[in-house]
Amino acid sequence: MKKDDCIFCKIANGEIPSKTLYEDEEFRVILDLGPAAKGHALILPKDHYANLYELPDEKAAKVMILAKKMATQMKDKLSCDGFNLVQNNGEIAGQTVFHFHMHLIPRYENDGQKIGWVPGEPTSEELEVVKEQIIG
Ligand code: AMP
Ligand code: ZN
Repeated sequence: MKKDDCIFCKIANGEIPSKTLYEDEEFRVILDLGPAAKGHALILPKDHYANLYELPDEKAAKVMILAKKMATQMKDKLSCDGFNLVQNNGEIAGQTVFHFHMHLIPRYENDGQKIGWVPGEPTSEELEVVKEQIIG
């Protein structure tokens, strides 16, 4: 299913042109217009899912297989020094386009980018509480 007012639906289905690296029946992989580093790309499903929670299991599995394929190709062709897979869900997590996408970000020595967080320092008891909250 496509969503009428969704820009990534239009890009994924070829209604808006993009720098396409890969395409099959279910996915299109495009270069990000605001790249964090050379080769920064996005995996877009052709059907509309707003986020990870909506993505069906079989699509999720295929996304990871495709991410591995693209990362391996970029490692070979771009000779990047590292690689980040990033996938944002929700505004607070940095999601700005509400059509599921996986970022493929090749990393280079001295690329000046930082993808990270400030590590907390929880006690074992605090971790236990969180664990129970999640699985209990
Ligand atoms: P996120 O913040 O995870 O929702 O990522 C959205 C990404 O989409 C950003 O990295 C943008 O640079 C990228 N982006 C937005 N519009 C376009 C577009 N028309 N073509 C390619 N990339 C886009
Ligand atoms: Zn969409």
